[in-house]
Amino acid sequence: MKRATSTASSPGPRVWRNWAGTAAATPARWCRPRSEAEISAALKDAAAAGLQVRALGSGHSFTAVAATSGVALDLSGWTGITAADTRTGLVTARSGTTLRALNAELGGLGLAMANLGDIDAQTLAGALSTGTHGTGARLGGLATQVESLELVLADGSLVTCSASARPDLFAAARIGLGALGVITAVTLRCVPSFTLLADERPMPVEEVLEQFDALAAANDHFEFYWFPYGRKALVKRNNRLPPGDPAAASAPSAMPRWRRFWEFEVMENAAFGTLCRIGRARPRLIPALNRFSSAALSARSYTDLSYRVFVTPRRVRFAESEYAVPRESLSHVITELRRAVPRLPDPVMFPVEVRVAAADDIWLSTAYGRESAYVAIHQYAGLPYQDWFDRFESIVAEVAGRPHWGKLHSLDAERLRPLYPRYDEFRRVRAEVDPEARFGNSYLTRILG
Ligand SMILES: Cc1cc2nc3c(=O)[nH]c(=O)nc-3n(C[C@H](O)[C@H](O)[C@H](O)COP(=O)(O)OP(=O)(O)OC[C@H]3O[C@@H](n4cnc5c(N)ncnc54)[C@H](O)[C@@H]3O)c2cc1C
Repeated sequence: MKRATSTASSPGPRVWRNWAGTAAATPARWCRPRSEAEISAALKDAAAAGLQVRALGSGHSFTAVAATSGVALDLSGWTGITAADTRTGLVTARSGTTLRALNAELGGLGLAMANLGDIDAQTLAGALSTGTHGTGARLGGLATQVESLELVLADGSLVTCSASARPDLFAAARIGLGALGVITAVTLRCVPSFTLLADERPMPVEEVLEQFDALAAANDHFEFYWFPYGRKALVKRNNRLPPGDPAAASAPSAMPRWRRFWEFEVMENAAFGTLCRIGRARPRLIPALNRFSSAALSARSYTDLSYRVFVTPRRVRFAESEYAVPRESLSHVITELRRAVPRLPDPVMFPVEVRVAAADDIWLSTAYGRESAYVAIHQYAGLPYQDWFDRFESIVAEVAGRPHWGKLHSLDAERLRPLYPRYDEFRRVRAEVDPEARFGNSYLTRILG
């Protein structure tokens, strides 16, 4: 499977670039290990050469979290499920496996991940390391589904951690930013395959905000999109259909292949991409195009296997920032964003996305210790976004917002420390397992000091 991470094909040093084009680096060395022994050897070689190391995922972080001028460890040859117990749901996969491949393999075993984000291009370890999440008031992000991890540490040793074995390393490494070691294998707690009933329909933004808590509580997976110049939001409710549930018999069927293609490829990607290109060429038209997109929102309902509902193709490139805020602050944040939009010097083409997650206990999780709402803002690639993102940051700062580690933000160690009660413990574990910052890079220097 082709990774989004691109490298120059012309002679000269190979360049690493992320999916969004917001980060690039020229590693001194590339390495494509195919075993734990090769990963360990690569780390020892890097130490001997005095080089730092970053494990690469699929390059889908908007931040430079994966960037390195040292050794780039390409794990695209280190994939696949290595053990599965369909009775307990415990499944071990190599860290470079993409979520797409994992979902398909799990499906073949009659299993699934309990919750997912909205794409599947990421690698398992890449998605975990930055705290990737989906939506669901009673569910945590992907890292909460981890039972244990295997890592190669900076000294080349292979260790296992879980709630009972090296619990501090486990609390840190489930969302470890690539700062603690190279994750080689992940054991996930999977659930039996399940079907989702997807219901999507437009609603006035005010109504969504009024009913936000009730919508979050009443649905397994609730989210909404709001086009910044439009009056309506697209509310998505995905609910599990238990096998044998009488409701399943009367539920709408799966979309036929042609309709999936029409809805997801043509309407959500090709047609929306065309509107975005028009907006980029004529920015003054953006508010009208945005209102048009909002007015064109329509209802649809279908059922499908969970991962086919959670995940949709994203072919239109964009820049993104996302913050987790205390759930009760959501209405304030959206109200302030609505006030800010008309005053921006550059109009915003892309919608704002709102999701929810349960509180968890992972040290650097954006949902650590609090019921969270996630607010994600975007701008079409090539359009100016700095004023929009700055305004957003000042609004979420008022409510102690925590930035997604893989999405654009400007916070540094000084501002992040008070937001994370276990921040110092994370740094302590890091100092223990990687005293020379072998896994460092400039992004980590900014956020961890
Ligand atoms: C179109 C799009 C949609 C997205 N949707 C969502 C969403 O719905 N929800 C959400 O929360 N986020 C979302 N994201 C963000 C994305 O999930 C994260 O940024 C994720 O980290 C990307 O995974 P990756 O495999 O591309 O990792 P990369 O971006 O390549 O790397 C991320 C980090 O993981 C580290 N890493 C990778 N492999 C290992 C390893 N084996 N051991 C240790 N560290 C490792 C890297 O060093 C780096 O620090 C989206 C991004 C895009 C571009």
